[in-house]
Amino acid sequence: MTAPPRSRTSAAPGRPDAGGGSRPRRLASLASIPVTELRGVGPKTAANLQRLGVHSVLDLLWHVPRRYIDRSTQPPIGSLRDVTLDAGEELTLIARVQRKTSRRIRRGLTLFEVTLADDTGTIKASWFNQPGRARLVEEGATVAVSGDLTYYRGRPKFEVKALEPIGRAGDSTGGVVPVHPAGSGVTQAEVREYVRQTLDRAGELFDPVPEGLRRRHGLVDRTWAFRQVHFPDDLATARRARTRLVYDELFVLEVALACKKRAAAERDKGFENVPDGPLGRELVARLPYELTRAQQRVLAEIAGDLASPAPMHRLVQGEVGSGKTVVAALAMLAATDAGRQAALMAPTEVLAEQHHRGLSELLAGLSVPTAENLLGERPLGVGLLTNRTTEAERRVLLDGLSRGEIDVLIGTHALIQDGVRIPELGVVVVDEQHRFGVHQRVALRDKQESETMPDVLIMTATPIPRTLSMTLYGDLDVSVIDELPPGRQPIETVLVAPDDAARARAYAHVRAEVEAGRQAYVICPLVEESEQLAAKSATSEYERLAEGELTGLRLGLLHGQLRPADKAAAMDAFRAGDVDVLVATTVVEVGVDVPNASVLIVEDADRFGLSQLHQLRGRIGRGSAKSTCYLFCDPQTPDSESRMAAMAEISDGFRLAEADLEIRGEGSLFGARQHGATDLHVARLLRDFDWVQKARTDAFALVDVDPRLSGPEHALLRDEVAARIGDDVDWLMKS
Ligand code: ADP
Ligand code: MG
Repeated sequence: MTAPPRSRTSAAPGRPDAGGGSRPRRLASLASIPVTELRGVGPKTAANLQRLGVHSVLDLLWHVPRRYIDRSTQPPIGSLRDVTLDAGEELTLIARVQRKTSRRIRRGLTLFEVTLADDTGTIKASWFNQPGRARLVEEGATVAVSGDLTYYRGRPKFEVKALEPIGRAGDSTGGVVPVHPAGSGVTQAEVREYVRQTLDRAGELFDPVPEGLRRRHGLVDRTWAFRQVHFPDDLATARRARTRLVYDELFVLEVALACKKRAAAERDKGFENVPDGPLGRELVARLPYELTRAQQRVLAEIAGDLASPAPMHRLVQGEVGSGKTVVAALAMLAATDAGRQAALMAPTEVLAEQHHRGLSELLAGLSVPTAENLLGERPLGVGLLTNRTTEAERRVLLDGLSRGEIDVLIGTHALIQDGVRIPELGVVVVDEQHRFGVHQRVALRDKQESETMPDVLIMTATPIPRTLSMTLYGDLDVSVIDELPPGRQPIETVLVAPDDAARARAYAHVRAEVEAGRQAYVICPLVEESEQLAAKSATSEYERLAEGELTGLRLGLLHGQLRPADKAAAMDAFRAGDVDVLVATTVVEVGVDVPNASVLIVEDADRFGLSQLHQLRGRIGRGSAKSTCYLFCDPQTPDSESRMAAMAEISDGFRLAEADLEIRGEGSLFGARQHGATDLHVARLLRDFDWVQKARTDAFALVDVDPRLSGPEHALLRDEVAARIGDDVDWLMKS
């Protein structure tokens, strides 16, 4: 192995193909070279590569191996009889597929089996279900499989956990086989060949990471890192190369975010609101409980922002039931105590109404000073504005807003419709639940008339792993309520396979709980096509249960197509305990709060996303009773299988969110928020947690010193930031 060169700046030994001798190249210059420039790549291959996300040769450079297989530790198949593995230890084999078969064992269970061969022998490898995996396997192809070795009558047998087609892996790859993302008509071997050509032609690359930072973190040279990440001498080298590129990507991204945040801070002026004022203190004094330590900490963080003249841009994350509402209420009272108004925007009408009910209760009895009457005070005004608000109610409300008598306005998107003016808007709370909607946030800010921005607090019940929120919401400050109020019982989650006995046990449990005075939810299958179909399926489930498993119990029905009054009546009846079992679509998913409910059944649970299931599960376990969540499921893909397993094992929302990311990949989340800025090739935010933090600290320190990257020593970095995030970079380029 060659020693990794550190911090080599220029003066590369000229490579034959480096294009112009020894002058290092900018990465950006590779972005304009199409892959068709490479030997062996015609229009057809280029089109196939595009489907892998590879357009330019720069994309190939970033198209790093998914993993590596170390051939030096591969036992020949003939020797497996003598291999003993430690518990939990996995084995990886590279072998030829001789035969593949599948056999249905019973409903919902199919056994797939392949016979693997090398020069020393054969072995059977098998797995259940996951037909997608079987499609990856062709007879005659070479695959890498990982899994457990078991013995059946003294013969070794392989239980497959992961499988990867790798093409002809023998070709000159030395001891370590890189497994590049391939497919879409492009084989592993082809990808390797194109990457090799790219590396040869790219030659020496400029390094945008300042030398001091490279030295501090012991990072290897960029050019070397690109070579070794694709074709490592050994696994240790691959790791060092990868680390360098991880930092590289994260650093450039964080610099961009730091610049953006800095620009906003320079541009925006805000209000000084009054946290901990008379109204805020009175509310705290009246609470029937003590604030948790986490609530107090988050409130202190918010207080600093509220009081400062710079506008707040803060995200508060809190597990379902962690008590975000009271935090939002106190933030809004900071506006009232400063003589201003506050608004809270919720994603659905059900939730807006619930917030309105909850906040009206919470804030009841508070008075605001006024000169308008002899008492010198009037009750705090709380209003609700949704699409259901009638024209007459709306006029009264708008009038109250303009006269300053509505202090706290709660609503849905209707809040940001034209014609709604909140003249003294000082604090905005956006309850995003699990949607990442930045557009609404921006629109609400424009509701007030001065140039000044209100303080904005975004609340999300989606536990976003810290690493992710740092980048996903990199221009926001983040607070986390990471503690539940005392006395909550853990929820037991039971996976129920599609067999009658297991389902019957779940319904029997519902009956037993109702008998004991408690309540239950039955969530109907997810129907994405339309609200109408969802309503229909809920109605037929309701009828089925009323005549079947749950006959004799008092059932309620709730879905999105009900008239508003009927919807409210269904919720009220359930809340009042007049209904034992609420059969509902996912309208109950967000924020519905009935502490007496102790059982939740989700039909077709494998069709729901993890965060949605977690929200649904959050409907129970809100009181002191032990609660149980039954997930009726029949997972057909590796992903849905993993999701169900995660639900059964994990109750903590943050860990669940991490599991979700591991299953779905991080890209899916970024797509929802900041297109382009965050498409990371090498770095994985969860796995590279430490590096996210280091890169972020370094980036913010650098931008503190040189906010617009105008120093000559940062010219290359500025280039990279611009090239990586394209149009989003306007704010950086404006001076
Ligand atoms: P979420 O974070 O899901 O919005 P809520 O604000 O609805 O949670 O709070 C859930 C429940 O916990 C409510 O009934 C609320 O009154 C109660 N609660 C909030 N904070 C505390 C606390 N510190 N101690 C006890 N109960 C609390
Ligand atoms: Mg809530």
